[in-house]
Amino acid sequence: MTPGFLVLESRRLAAALLAAGAMWWLTQDWRLALATLAVVLALLWGWQLAKVYRWFANPEQLPPISDAGLGGILRDVYVLRSRDTLGTKVPARSQPYLKDSLASMRDAALIINSDGRLVWCNDAAEYLLGIKFEEEEGKPLSEVVPGKSLKRYMRDENFQKPLRFKPSPDPEFCLQFEFSRFGVNDRLVFVKDVSEQDKLERMRRDFVGNVSHELRTPLTVIKGYIETLQSLVAETNPTLTKSLGSMDTQVGRMERLIEDLLWLSRIESVEGERKDDQIDMVRLLSDVGESLRAAWPERDIEVEIESAQQILGSASELRSALSNLIVNALKYSDGLVTVKWSETVVGPALAVEDEGEGIDAKHIPRLTERFYRVDKSRSQATGGTGLGLAIVKHVAVSHEAKLFIDSEPGKGSTFRLVFPRDRVALEANLSGAPVAQ
Ligand code: ADP
Repeated sequence: MTPGFLVLESRRLAAALLAAGAMWWLTQDWRLALATLAVVLALLWGWQLAKVYRWFANPEQLPPISDAGLGGILRDVYVLRSRDTLGTKVPARSQPYLKDSLASMRDAALIINSDGRLVWCNDAAEYLLGIKFEEEEGKPLSEVVPGKSLKRYMRDENFQKPLRFKPSPDPEFCLQFEFSRFGVNDRLVFVKDVSEQDKLERMRRDFVGNVSHELRTPLTVIKGYIETLQSLVAETNPTLTKSLGSMDTQVGRMERLIEDLLWLSRIESVEGERKDDQIDMVRLLSDVGESLRAAWPERDIEVEIESAQQILGSASELRSALSNLIVNALKYSDGLVTVKWSETVVGPALAVEDEGEGIDAKHIPRLTERFYRVDKSRSQATGGTGLGLAIVKHVAVSHEAKLFIDSEPGKGSTFRLVFPRDRVALEANLSGAPVAQ
């Protein structure tokens, strides 16, 4: 105990000594007096500690103890905390200048502190969000603009991509939030009304989806007629048989194209939604490997499992991305295709490797564009739709994964989907036992 502490706690000590003295006076037993001293001190400090614990659970309140000693420490904690949480008390140097510049802007701008609490907003933000700054000051932004996706976005602190979400029951009203850091740990948030843009994108998606859907029925009818004609003229008219064969191939291509377009528009329409099913990747890799081995019996597909990590995502989307990558590896190479599930420093990775023709570096940045093909004739010959990698890219985006493409002409290619660590649903070792996180 330091002398300072003794002085500060003198009142409590004096009370305990008084009680001990009274006990000694009554009983003349120094052991009982000592015990009384200990019990009274323990009770007094225990009572203080209980108050402190209660305050920690709700630190927005003023510290419960105001006297010297512990009270002094709690006050310091409180001041430090409010500096952090309210931010308004000690504004960052850059704030006044920023506020002046942003106040007259037509775009909605807000400043939040490191705790995500509203420190300031301009008139445009008040208008767009339908709030009054005086009423909302100091509140968490996720309370000012309620919505699960904003809460999650702020918690994840990954502000590279702006967040779009619909804050109200009105399905047409869509806002876009862009966060950037400034000052010590404050954040500047720009909010835009992107309802019109969102509507146009939805119309485009729906249009592609609807057209593709409408084309399905006539194609099925045409396919049926081709099959009937093929059976009628078989062996009697070789020229017609050849023509019908090529018609059948083209109809098959159109069907694949429609399926891919429909799938793409479906994935796009749920891109912003969180996919949270727990996916057993080991099982998924084995299943997809198995079914593609059955479809390409003459080819070698090796599945290497180096991790047992399960991830949160959508099974159908991940299956489709993986199938597209393996089918590409089979189409654009003749040798072994290796599918690997492993751990990297950044997170779990799904890789598909082939020893095929490879891709020239200049094409790589454009590969995930719709209908982009390195070699159109080769792609058509293999029955490609030009949409496979666009689908993979969309699946990657909706799982916050990154698609890496390593390729060297003549040597082969590796397509790797690396998932963020917070998508890992279950850490497990290869024997299946869960590992403490
Ligand atoms: P496609 O249906 O034409 O295969 P994708 O979108 O799947 O369309 O692929 C786009 C282009 O990328 C392909 O046309 C092909 O030129 C190239 N490509 C994709 N995967 C590979 C691969 N494993 N090896 C070499 N080239 C590839």
